Amino acid sequence: TWSAVPAGPPDPILGITEAFKADKDPRKINLGVGAYRDENGKPYVLNAVKKAESLLTATSPDKEYLPITGLPEFTKHAAKLAYGADSVPLKEGAIAVTQSISGTGALRIGGAFLARHYPHSKIIYLPVPTWGNHIPIFKDSGLEVRGYRYFDKKSVGLDFEGLKEDLNNAPEGAIVLLHACAHNPTGVDPTHAQWAEISDVIASKKLFPFFDMAYQGFASGSTTHDAFAVRHFVKHGHQIALAQSFAKNMGLYGERVGLFSLTTKDAEEKKRVDSQLKIVIRPMYSNPPLHGALLANAILGNEELYQEWEGEVKGMAERIISMRERLYGLLTNELKTPGEWGHIKSQIGMFSFTGMKPEQCKALAEKAHVYLTMDGRISMAGLNGSNVEYFAASVDAAVK
Ligand code: PMP
Repeated sequence: TWSAVPAGPPDPILGITEAFKADKDPRKINLGVGAYRDENGKPYVLNAVKKAESLLTATSPDKEYLPITGLPEFTKHAAKLAYGADSVPLKEGAIAVTQSISGTGALRIGGAFLARHYPHSKIIYLPVPTWGNHIPIFKDSGLEVRGYRYFDKKSVGLDFEGLKEDLNNAPEGAIVLLHACAHNPTGVDPTHAQWAEISDVIASKKLFPFFDMAYQGFASGSTTHDAFAVRHFVKHGHQIALAQSFAKNMGLYGERVGLFSLTTKDAEEKKRVDSQLKIVIRPMYSNPPLHGALLANAILGNEELYQEWEGEVKGMAERIISMRERLYGLLTNELKTPGEWGHIKSQIGMFSFTGMKPEQCKALAEKAHVYLTMDGRISMAGLNGSNVEYFAASVDAAVK
């Protein structure tokens, strides 16, 4: 029956983890996957999450199904986290929200909803480059995927003029995907002034902004600061779509907790949109998983746990920032590695786009047991006090 099914290529990111696991060298480092690691290189379960687990256990909740759009208290808290307590559409009850299977699921619900109901276009513009999964997510949702310029290889920074030109040339009404903060894979974000200009271009071309916010709090250490773009667009009259993930900022990767939301005209329109979101979701997976939503809800709805969580997000962001400084210092001052490495310090969030070429990345894996994606992206969270010197020396050898 399946004799004509061709073997597909391995996933470019998850495939790296496989190679890493198979490597027996004690010096091996996995900088491929975007999952936070603590100072000892170990997965990190947040204290706020551990406490939420004990609180939950004490109440021994049942395992009944959630509603199609998820745990109502959780979705309310999560929307407030993104839009801000003083958000006008939030106060007016004009934001349609649904729990999702983490960020990926939110993007997929959004893609499917837009493909079915967005009246102005079936085209979505993605930044070049973008998180690899964006492309199949939106294609499989039934949208036509195009790219807009984002990263400038020469400056290792934002190609702001190219970005504006491409959005200005997009057909009226097209959808534009924007990384709200901590752009993956480049680590390059627009400044606040640049966001304001992007908002104006999108308004003038009547484009539809779809934000992917997978790293709120992870970029700067502040959930408010990282929500700047989303809140700016809403304040300036845009209707937006938003995908949120609690994988990184709560370390709930495998629990699959996320949110999809759409701002609408008013409470009546929201109700109609809600009903159609349910019709999109029901045949996909019926209703979302329970446990992670209970945990996130316990944190977001409890002042003490919330404070502790914010502190821990800040701690994770700061450890990553300190690794950026250490790595930059090693390459530039101690090893005098050829090339300009300032971007390691200036890039934002979990990733750094090092500028290393595919053959250098390959050499790192084969000779130094250091695994990263072939585009030269490294997850800064995989570095720590015990391996950063070995990593810097390996990079130095690979580029010399
Ligand atoms: N968007 C971006 C930009 C991401 O980097 C990720 C995670 N790598 C996601 C969405 C979704 O991740 P998850 O489904 O685990 O929340």
